[in-house]
Amino acid sequence: MDPPGPKSKILVEREKNSVSHAHAHYLPIAIKRGYDNMVEDVDGNTYLDLTAGAAVMGVGYKRKEVVDSINKQMQNILAHSIFFATFEPHIQLAEKIKELIPFNTLKNSRISFGASGSEAVEMALSLTRTKKLSIISLFPSYHGRTLATNSLTGMKSSFRKNLVPLSSGVIHAPYPDSYRNPFGLDDFDAHDAAANYVENLLTTLVPPEDVGAIIMEPIGGSGGYQVPSNSYMKRIKKLCKDNDILFIADEVQTGFGRTGKMFGMEHFDIEPDMMTIGKVLGGGLPIGALVATEKLMQNWKPGDWGSTFGGNLLSMTAGLSTLEIIQKEKLDKNAEIRGKQLMDGLNDLMKKNNIIGDVRGKGLMLAFELVKDRKTKVPAPDEAKALVNLCMKSGLLISTCGTYGSAVRLLPPLTLSENEAGISLDLITKSLNHIS
Ligand code: PMP
Repeated sequence: MDPPGPKSKILVEREKNSVSHAHAHYLPIAIKRGYDNMVEDVDGNTYLDLTAGAAVMGVGYKRKEVVDSINKQMQNILAHSIFFATFEPHIQLAEKIKELIPFNTLKNSRISFGASGSEAVEMALSLTRTKKLSIISLFPSYHGRTLATNSLTGMKSSFRKNLVPLSSGVIHAPYPDSYRNPFGLDDFDAHDAAANYVENLLTTLVPPEDVGAIIMEPIGGSGGYQVPSNSYMKRIKKLCKDNDILFIADEVQTGFGRTGKMFGMEHFDIEPDMMTIGKVLGGGLPIGALVATEKLMQNWKPGDWGSTFGGNLLSMTAGLSTLEIIQKEKLDKNAEIRGKQLMDGLNDLMKKNNIIGDVRGKGLMLAFELVKDRKTKVPAPDEAKALVNLCMKSGLLISTCGTYGSAVRLLPPLTLSENEAGISLDLITKSLNHIS
């Protein structure tokens, strides 16, 4: 697909001489600026952005309060290091996060700051290992691409090419997925089978007394936006409780309103023992953090974790003003309402288009999957890519996801309006009609 303008084309070509192609792009455009829920490319074309820069821009682009808070912090001190002194912005953000967390399990918790979601997961892994060495992760899942976090991620086998063996001690089990699962089951039977599988692991493969934690995304993320059943979650939590295993919720993508609740775990009747957070938390600046109980944190001695840019002061202040906006404007509620509008529209679309095999997700974390045939569920990644490109041409940015690249995800800023959700559905409908 050609870039939509001559200036984009020049930059896309120029990039090839200096920037690694390992940063593959979903979209063939060069973006220059962003405002509200829109971005503009270097040719002046504008787009409604349902990617939110990888689910990062929770309150949209160039939000005045966020920009002002960054400017104000820059006037004081732009950067220093959390390892050298005490800085109020760390305390303020940690206090705000604690205020937003509704879980009793984490009431008495502390927060440790890193510079990315992967680093948050690395911290969770490291702290878990102060207890026990093995960890159970799910597939599909996305927990990061550093070597240690990639050993937890189970999304595409190509992510592991030439890298195995990764971190040892990770055992994978299937994510509860009604649509695609290794059991060939539909609906909630698949969720029961997935819970049976974990039980089985603990009897056949790894003694529970060696397992430090189970880590999972409360709603499947980049691996495909699956929604676990409450009964699956309860069974896993019971296994954890009975066997002194920690339940780690990776809320890097689901956290801070994205799923229609402040945290993804609030959709279930269970609570996590540890939480990894990132993305929206930084207000657009790099961040990752681990929330763990005071007691567990005591397993680390001062100096047991290090990261030069972890807890960057600009990220702290941008994050704080972002969380204040989410809280004040009840953007979690907006995500729930606009999510329902989009979900209803996509379900209507599925009734009229056989190419859509499934629609799933929660709040403003949605995906629909394109298939060659509804019965056989053969993935249609080329069609998904074509849809993304057609939407881009008509002024809407969306992206593909999932193991097969056949799912199309909608992850707009939490500030998405009713009108924008309607426009998005119209543009997706028109583009889909072209394809099918
Ligand atoms: N965990 C989850 C659930 C994620 O969605 C991501 C990023 N997509 C990560 C971890 C890794 O975060 P980062 O890319 O900031 O390292």
